Amino acid sequence: MHSSELTHADIVDLLTTVPAGDVYDRADKVRQAALGSDVHLRGLIEFSNICRNDCLYCGIRRGNKGVTRYHMDDDELVETARRAVDIGFQTIVLQSGEDLHYDANRMCRIIERIKAMDVALTLSIGEREYGDYQAFRNAGADRYLMRIETTDVDLYHRLNPGMSWQRRHECLLMIKELGYELGSGIMVGLPGQTVESIADDLLYLKSIGVDMAGIGPFIPHPGTPLAHEQGGTLEQALRTMAIMRLLLPDINIPATTAMESLHPQGRIMALQAGANVVMPNVTEGEYRRLYELYPGKICVNDTPIHCRTCIGLKIQSIGRTIGQGRGGHISRKNNIQQ
Ligand code: SAH
Repeated sequence: MHSSELTHADIVDLLTTVPAGDVYDRADKVRQAALGSDVHLRGLIEFSNICRNDCLYCGIRRGNKGVTRYHMDDDELVETARRAVDIGFQTIVLQSGEDLHYDANRMCRIIERIKAMDVALTLSIGEREYGDYQAFRNAGADRYLMRIETTDVDLYHRLNPGMSWQRRHECLLMIKELGYELGSGIMVGLPGQTVESIADDLLYLKSIGVDMAGIGPFIPHPGTPLAHEQGGTLEQALRTMAIMRLLLPDINIPATTAMESLHPQGRIMALQAGANVVMPNVTEGEYRRLYELYPGKICVNDTPIHCRTCIGLKIQSIGRTIGQGRGGHISRKNNIQQ
């Protein structure tokens, strides 16, 4: 497909001068041609907000003393997954801060118990050793999601004190090599981020062969050092996501929750600008509110079944269908270990 040959200059043009509506329409057509009407749902469990890192943008950074910390015990986590499976989710996503309470052994037992429910399992728990990634994969994890956040190395190091861009990049390569479906992505509208750097990000995600790319606006959190920064706009985030679709016509692209936090129809707009996945929150009770990466997070008082029903109706209202099956990256379907 020609669209996947876009150059850096083309991308900058699409980010800046081409009317936004035209970019969205192009992405929508590319998505329809490559993937049809299906929207795949993933049940997202936010199982711990404890984190050893101190990322300047993130509400659950180590240095934010205003956060009530929690982490689910194993049975609670597995039961949350079971209830999500019972209401129809065929992919479960486990996300947390970098919480070392969950060592490799403990994670593997959790993975095995969830995989016994006959669903696809995605991990989003940050940077680990190669041996851990290998163990998780052997225990049955199918996919791994870790955003590179930005490919501007200096910006990354300013925003993520004590972390290494190179190390994160290497983790993504290890994950790919181990045969996971690889998810990565970026935030749009970070302080000091330029359109040239966003174009680099998109080409980077293409070059590492992502199977999934999550793109969302940066939203300043009051409990962080970036509280008074500007934040990204919905348009900027949607444009970036739409161009990702032009570059990679058949990958999975979620309509991110952060988009809906900026606009009540944000996820629907995303689904009409290239996205084909939604990740409804299936975390229960107080935990939803406590997992606050950014302010204005949607659905904090809702239940899993409410979120499932609500998004299902929205998807149908725009003439789209709920995808059946696990909804892996279509080009890699045969590679996924069951
Ligand atoms: N610890 C895991 C999960 C991180 S949280 C990991 O490192 O991969 C998931 C994503 O939320 C982050 O990768 C980041 O892109 C996003 N995020 C964090 N703070 C945010 C903010 N203030 N605004 C928007 N997105 C944010």
